[in-house]
Amino acid sequence: MSRLDALRGPSPPVDHNARSIAALAANPACHRRAVLDAAGIDKGKVVQHLGHPMQFGQSPFALIRSRQFKAIVKESGGAHLLRLLRELLGLAVEEAGYRDVEDVDEHAGRALLRKHTEQLLRSAAENRGDAATIVDHPLLKLNVAGYDVYLEPDVIAFQAQGKFHVVVIKTFAIIDDQAETAKVSAAAREAAVYVHALRVLFEQLRLDPQRVSHDIVLVCPENFRNFPTARLVDVRHQLEVLRRQLERLARIDTILDTLPPDLSLDLMMDGDTPTRSAAELGAAVSGIPARYAPECLSVCELAYFCRAEAKACGSLEALGRAVRDDLGGIESVSTVVNLATGAAVPSDDQVAVTERLRYARRIHGEVVA
Ligand code: SF4
Repeated sequence: MSRLDALRGPSPPVDHNARSIAALAANPACHRRAVLDAAGIDKGKVVQHLGHPMQFGQSPFALIRSRQFKAIVKESGGAHLLRLLRELLGLAVEEAGYRDVEDVDEHAGRALLRKHTEQLLRSAAENRGDAATIVDHPLLKLNVAGYDVYLEPDVIAFQAQGKFHVVVIKTFAIIDDQAETAKVSAAAREAAVYVHALRVLFEQLRLDPQRVSHDIVLVCPENFRNFPTARLVDVRHQLEVLRRQLERLARIDTILDTLPPDLSLDLMMDGDTPTRSAAELGAAVSGIPARYAPECLSVCELAYFCRAEAKACGSLEALGRAVRDDLGGIESVSTVVNLATGAAVPSDDQVAVTERLRYARRIHGEVVA
């Protein structure tokens, strides 16, 4: 049994996905998230047991709606998608082809599906006559922090001019040509993970990775109807950020070496019910160093637990990265207060920041006087 399996216990592992990789890459210094994700631990169940149920994620209604809309986009061999690709990428009528990776075998395992994905993409890249315009249910593999993660983009589309495009299907609406910026940004970050994984695969297949376009095809409902429309979204910026952040992620085995050898995050499930004491599990989770920031609230299931922990120990992390960076070298709120009020004597490397704190305190005092 691997160390990661031992950490999780007998519960089945929860798979990574593009969303979780984007979130992990957004906080590369957080060993807690890195370890829990690598061990495939159900973070939602853990925080629920710890009394801090997660407050984000898709509702059952949203999941059903997402499945229905994807089915509409892909129905009849991707008829809607082909129409959109023709409009968006100038795909010629005769350049239409649909391949479903899952056709290989209904019960195929991941290794076989990934192999089949590779074969279809290699064939499309090397033999234009055999170009599958749409590859459905592709399975990609990406090494994240020293372990392999399987990813399932919605679709990969091949354009006759030689470029491959990742297609992302979302259920937020495009109304009068506008969509919510935050939702488009989240979709772009997720799509960048697929583009990156596809480029890595192309390199492994000795194909030009630049044949994977940095423009992704975002498919959404138009004006609240279930009628699909599509836009190209340039994810170059997200790709660059992701690549840099993945490089900075500490290797999991290096992190594991720093943890107690008998550490366990096993919920000790009895059917659907965790039987491990919450206090004991909380102590085990707290034993893995975290790097909480308010941004965690929108991307990580553990956010409310980590925020309570950061607040309880007066950590500056809870006030955000900008505050933490401004007050570099000081760890806690109480130290900041003591330095600002003169109750503590600054060390040599705290002198500059203490002067700024006392200046800000003086200004604040004058304003409120
Ligand atoms: S919420 Fe906690 S575990 Fe998740 S990324 Fe933030 S600090 Fe790390």
